[in-house]
Amino acid sequence: MELLFEKSRKGRGCDLLPPLDVPPAHLMEGMGREAPLDLPELSEVELSRHYSALERRAHGVNNGFYPLGSCTMKYNPRLHEELAALPGFAGVHPSQDPADVQGCLKVLRLAEELLCEITGMDAMTFQPAAGAHGELTALLMVKKYHLDRGDAGRTKILAPDSAHGTNPASAAMCGFTVVNVPSNPQGGVDLEALRAAAGPDTAALMLTNPNTLGLFDPNILEITQIVHDAGGLCYYDGANLNAVMGVVRPGDMGFDLVHLNLHKTFSTPHGGGGPGSGPVGCKDFLRDYLPAGYVEEGPRGLELRDPEKTIGRVKAFCGNFTVVVKALAYLLTLGAEGIPQAAQGAVLNANYLREQLRGTYDIAYGEGPCMHEFVLTLEKLKKETGVSALDVAKALIDQGIHPPTMYFPLIVEEALMFEPTETESRETLDHAAAVLKAIRAQADTDPAALHAAPVTTPIGRPDEVQAARHPVLRYRPPEVQP
Ligand SMILES: *Cc1c(COP(=O)(O)O)cnc(C)c1O
Repeated sequence: MELLFEKSRKGRGCDLLPPLDVPPAHLMEGMGREAPLDLPELSEVELSRHYSALERRAHGVNNGFYPLGSCTMKYNPRLHEELAALPGFAGVHPSQDPADVQGCLKVLRLAEELLCEITGMDAMTFQPAAGAHGELTALLMVKKYHLDRGDAGRTKILAPDSAHGTNPASAAMCGFTVVNVPSNPQGGVDLEALRAAAGPDTAALMLTNPNTLGLFDPNILEITQIVHDAGGLCYYDGANLNAVMGVVRPGDMGFDLVHLNLHKTFSTPHGGGGPGSGPVGCKDFLRDYLPAGYVEEGPRGLELRDPEKTIGRVKAFCGNFTVVVKALAYLLTLGAEGIPQAAQGAVLNANYLREQLRGTYDIAYGEGPCMHEFVLTLEKLKKETGVSALDVAKALIDQGIHPPTMYFPLIVEEALMFEPTETESRETLDHAAAVLKAIRAQADTDPAALHAAPVTTPIGRPDEVQAARHPVLRYRPPEVQP
């Protein structure tokens, strides 16, 4: 596909600027460009077609099933986009006097109240721009909390071997050492290993529950107790709250801090690098460490204050505000009844699809029920037929289905992780099961065709090693056409 620069023809632009009707202002000496900016020149219809063609090349939730585990690619109501675009939200300036933007501050306040109710926390910041950013924010709070108490020896973060990759990465960025806690045969945290790892050098435990195997750890109260007894804090990675929102609360499981991914669970589409939001909630005793610019009730109404022992700012102003507007719209639309119903639907759909596939594929840790997602292991299939998890994932693309998450969590060989979400119909799940069964049958009869998939896309199988080791990151434009 040609780029706009390649489609460009000199003099063809669609220049719609009106003639200048004010005296021209001149830039300071030396601040102007030496040559005019080399922008592509196209007619409006060519430009419009270009972007439509790009759109057709992408797979979004509007194109078909998108069961990307751990990412909650559910349908997000269009109405919330319209609400976030209302001039009173989209048109305000972040430096405006708080007295003029009481409505916007109220949005943050109300979203905080509702999400604290859902998570069992006492206060929340909306500054972090994504999940990993929320992890970093929370760990900075953990660090400051321990140092403020003169407890400087707490340098380690405990994380299970099934943890999302961002957990150890955030801990390392924060200057902590990561201690890997192994999983037990049921896929939960190995309690003995945790007991052995927790001690006077433990700053915190980072845990996702349900974990990346889609399993709820039945020992959760004992887990948080072990860490608390050792003097550490408990941090809940709530990026995947879809399975439990309105059903169980991290605060009641013994967690002191939590981050959420509004762009997974609470009605903001994601995956294309758009704005996200990773709010961090905490219990009362950590409130003073929240980032600067926290919404509080003052003598003139709501205002932004800096908590006493704040870790400082982690992002400009109040974070990605319109993402919070969409989350609030979602919370108020579903209400106290709809939120747990959505979670139950997510869990039901995951179990439904999993049971459809049982017998056709091996399920990792498949004894009990799963939560919002499940993991298949294709280790045996690969040994018997040569068809790998990668082959199956690529074959799904040709059938209009986005691949599940591959080769994660790391503790499962040839892993495929499916998260159907609550917004998919039974028909969609039945179709996906039928497609996966047909691919399984093809692994016996025509494995070569699966190694060659996908055949319907502009690019089949990029050389991943080459792409990682020698990425071509610079585009060199062709000679400009006459
Ligand atoms: C997605 C995810 C994250 C990271 O969130 P980002 O917004 O991508 O930074 C962290 N933990 C878990 C369990 C996740 O699924």
